[in-house]
Amino acid sequence: MSITDTFVAVAEAHSAPTYHPLPVVVATADGAWMTDVEGRRYLDLLAGYSALNFGHCNRRLIEAAEAQLERVTLTSRAFHHDRFGAFCEQLAALCGMEMVLPMNTGAEAVESAVKTARKWGYRVKGVPAGRAKIVVAGNNFHGRTTTIISFSTDPAARADFGPYTPGFEIVPYGDLTAMRAAMTENTVAVLLEPIQGEAGVLVPPAGYLPAVRELTRERGVLFVADEIQSGLGRTGRTFACEHEGVVPDVYVLGKALGGGIVPVSAVVSSAEVLGVFRPGEHGSTFGGNPLACAVALEVIAMLRSGEYQARAAELGDRLHRELGALARTGRVTGVRGRGLWAGVDIHPGCGTGREVAEKLMDRGVLVKDTHGSTVRIAPPLVIGEEDLDWGLARLREVLGL
Ligand SMILES: *Cc1c(COP(=O)(O)O)cnc(C)c1O
Repeated sequence: MSITDTFVAVAEAHSAPTYHPLPVVVATADGAWMTDVEGRRYLDLLAGYSALNFGHCNRRLIEAAEAQLERVTLTSRAFHHDRFGAFCEQLAALCGMEMVLPMNTGAEAVESAVKTARKWGYRVKGVPAGRAKIVVAGNNFHGRTTTIISFSTDPAARADFGPYTPGFEIVPYGDLTAMRAAMTENTVAVLLEPIQGEAGVLVPPAGYLPAVRELTRERGVLFVADEIQSGLGRTGRTFACEHEGVVPDVYVLGKALGGGIVPVSAVVSSAEVLGVFRPGEHGSTFGGNPLACAVALEVIAMLRSGEYQARAAELGDRLHRELGALARTGRVTGVRGRGLWAGVDIHPGCGTGREVAEKLMDRGVLVKDTHGSTVRIAPPLVIGEEDLDWGLARLREVLGL
């Protein structure tokens, strides 16, 4: 048995089998590269589903974390700490908003946005008690809690986890007519991913997000944008909504906000919306902790410079040029995405998405398949141009080109 097989066997024997990871056991990582327990190097074209936008062990982020580790790491929200106000102020400013509700994981932030929208609906919009509805899109991915999977359309995510939380209407993604028809006077929010990541990096039809913005404004409904995966530089802008000139009422953020070091998530909105809470109505032991705030403050400072967004846009053009060339060969049947983010549909003759991912792994490139035939490409935004080209050349090889 190889060292890798030994690690995999222990993990498989003692962890709940909720994942089917590639058989690679990572020991160290730096930038866009990871090294396994046997010393083999791999180019990371997944970047922790965009949690690693700034690369593995980014020096600025590690230094910010280390400095904070020596000072104070957790106070609970029972007390103030000296990073908290700055974190909320600067994150709100980055979003062009006023207030921040800090949480830890993405799913918690989505849950918090659902609670925020419902409370806003009752306290501000005047929806009768217990009647609030939230409109969501088919093929969404917003996390794994019982309420969130209640409005998933993925059988694997839902089956055997009921009873489900009511209060959600599911309409097809990209279909404005269906959304309009689903709205009633009790609709408090529309919750959408501006680009659907897990669904295969689905970009909605041009004009859809602005139309949703107009419709929600008209009806007095909150537009909640789940930018957990699409936000913070990935698409070449700070937020994916920006590509369509859209400003939602509420941003839900996570993943890259924690710099790949700690889980940091947040709901960001106006004072009218987040101001509906009173002490004791919501909370989190770890939400907004000093270590999380210190890392996130550095992430926000890095994003303020605009250099990561510019890099994602530039390298994204390069990525999509090459993927476009692969599509013209027919071995790739579809390419979607924006910036340094792509869903690539593999022709069945070239194998399943999983088989392509395994062959890429053997050549030193790590990607993740989704929905059978799609491979998702989302490298750290700090990836070198030559490294990106090298990784894409390996994909060409695996497709037999
Ligand atoms: C990853 C993700 C989530 C859930 O985040 P977790 O940190 O895994 O709970 C929610 N929404 C979107 C769009 C995501 O990509």
